[in-house]
Amino acid sequence: LNVVLVAGNSGCNQNQVAVVVETPAHSALAGPLTYRHERALEPGTLLRVPLGRRTTAGLSWPATTGAPDGVELRAVVEAFDALPALGAQWCALVEFAARYYQRGIGEVALAVLPPELRRLGAAQLAQRVARLRKAAAEAPPPHADEPAPAPTAAQGDALARLAELPRSAPALLHGLTGSGKTEVYLRSAERALTAGRQALVLVPEINLTPQLEARFAARFGGRRIVSLHSALTPAQRLRAWLLAHLGLADLVLGTRLAVFAPLPRLGLIVVDEEHDPSYKQQEGARYSARDLAVWRGRQLGVPVLLGSATPSLESWQRALDGRYAHVALPARVGDAALPTVRLFDLNRLPRGEAPALAPPIIDAVRARVERGEQALLLLNRRGYAPVLHCTNCGWKSACAHCSAWRVFHKVDRTLRCHHCGAQQRVPRHCPDCGNADIAPIGRGTERLEEQLAALLPGARIGRIDADTTRRAGALQARLAEVHAGDIDVLVGTQMVAKGHDFRRVTLVAAVNPDSALFASDFRAAERLFALLMQAAGRAGRDRAFSASSEMWLQTWHPQHALFAALRAHDYDAFAAAQLAERRAAGMPPFAHLALLRTDARSADAAQAFLHDAASAAATLPGADAVMVYPPVPLAVARVAGIERMQMLVESASRPALQRLLAAWQPALQALRSRHRTVQRWAIDVDPHAI
Ligand SMILES: [Zn+2]
Ligand SMILES: [Zn+2]
Repeated sequence: LNVVLVAGNSGCNQNQVAVVVETPAHSALAGPLTYRHERALEPGTLLRVPLGRRTTAGLSWPATTGAPDGVELRAVVEAFDALPALGAQWCALVEFAARYYQRGIGEVALAVLPPELRRLGAAQLAQRVARLRKAAAEAPPPHADEPAPAPTAAQGDALARLAELPRSAPALLHGLTGSGKTEVYLRSAERALTAGRQALVLVPEINLTPQLEARFAARFGGRRIVSLHSALTPAQRLRAWLLAHLGLADLVLGTRLAVFAPLPRLGLIVVDEEHDPSYKQQEGARYSARDLAVWRGRQLGVPVLLGSATPSLESWQRALDGRYAHVALPARVGDAALPTVRLFDLNRLPRGEAPALAPPIIDAVRARVERGEQALLLLNRRGYAPVLHCTNCGWKSACAHCSAWRVFHKVDRTLRCHHCGAQQRVPRHCPDCGNADIAPIGRGTERLEEQLAALLPGARIGRIDADTTRRAGALQARLAEVHAGDIDVLVGTQMVAKGHDFRRVTLVAAVNPDSALFASDFRAAERLFALLMQAAGRAGRDRAFSASSEMWLQTWHPQHALFAALRAHDYDAFAAAQLAERRAAGMPPFAHLALLRTDARSADAAQAFLHDAASAAATLPGADAVMVYPPVPLAVARVAGIERMQMLVESASRPALQRLLAAWQPALQALRSRHRTVQRWAIDVDPHAI
């Protein structure tokens, strides 16, 4: 039997070791467990320890308080000495993330390690480490880095500003698409590498790592560059992580997970496209990699460079307050012109269903095709049509398990739910009245592609969205076709707006930007503006074509302030207007938010849990500094038969909110016994959407 606490004194001449282990959500909040071991262990040593009837992976942790006298402790089974300890600073990063985002320390610590690390035995791990060290020792010394192109005047100014900053001051590098932010990253990295340090470069999407890796590899030929992201095989991920941790990799490029990479010589953190929502983890510990990067830089006294053409309003406000240095790159490299932004007022069209594209936009696309240039059409909705309906009785293709429509995919004649994944054949007749005339409403990328093919006979039309890029390598292949000029018109979702350097695109058109204009989410306008600015940045990157580059928007709301700011390429004006609204409404960055989300079999059960949670919050010390709003269903309330509700918690003070959340946890755990039909609950701190 596994009796952990037994009075006795047999273990008294051994060392007590604090250990964190991975435990199910919400049970590990009490912090590290205490074990004994024959010698003291450095913080962050990988271990195997007994837990109940099994053994599990753990990490030694900076000691807090020891076990009380007279308690017999269980012994550590095995310490993996071949792997250097992760160290106190890494432990501090994890502990901060766990505390701030309301998760268990062990849960976060073990979740961010490569899974392969826990699968391997001590001997296998020792062998891997030895092999990497041997290969590094035998590798030829790094040859001189490629000579960098001379910086533009603006880049030179930006680099001079960055060099003057105190090391721990984060800098917001604010530059339009095409203004040469990457060159500033490269030169900042060069400075860190020359000083013998490592550089960590975070990017929002896995798809953007290959091209950035190519840029870095071209500049830093002899350096070891590794990528860390979730699409690697377990063995690749372990190898990259080990190279980072052993200090053998000089540059680590990665997605949000890489913010936890142990880097013993870290000297620079770059967060590219810092506004991108993908930096926020959406399950488990819902951390923001950008915010953790800033924390990590402060902790280590290492510069953090946040780059964006459209900074998040949080970062922008910090720059306005002077908490971040604002470093601007005002012009595009080579003075390539920004595209002219044109609006088409859909109200000018005769009544009836709007065409795929307004006539002047079709003419503009046709002109590009005839001149051998390229056009990019942005429609943030995949599938053929968002819903099918019966013209006789009004039946619509609702999902049986979700409060959402099933999307019509014509290519395989299916109706698919984009929330639960349920899929069915398109019915031949209306399931309610038997009418054979069921028709699509609205438009997705698949339908737009079909309509364009009809409008532009002979044009080569390509589509990039989650459906056409599911196969490994499909996205790279499609992008290569665009780069080679084998595609005249590219239709895509927001996937195409990000980062890709299309040299011959001179027209970008947003087909349905209105859908985000009046969304209930307070960040919808910020996201739409960033997406459209980024999409506009795809046009005219090559100076030879930049004079003719245009962005077209077809909208029912041409007077909207967002479009006026976009036409003027005026981020500052847009941000000022948004910040004024946020301040008036008491929204971030002027208030701090958390959500308590819950999933249950019924909406009543979810609501009852949240009501009790609110009552519990009201009794906690400091509750008067925090506002708890009534429970509401999520925008898509039911997914796969589960009802989802949430409750907003808000405070003008971040510490007050943090105090309340920490005190709330035990109360929420206690509520579970009274709410057995609640499947799970989770706290989302600094949520991205509410
Ligand atoms: Zn019908
Ligand atoms: Zn569904």
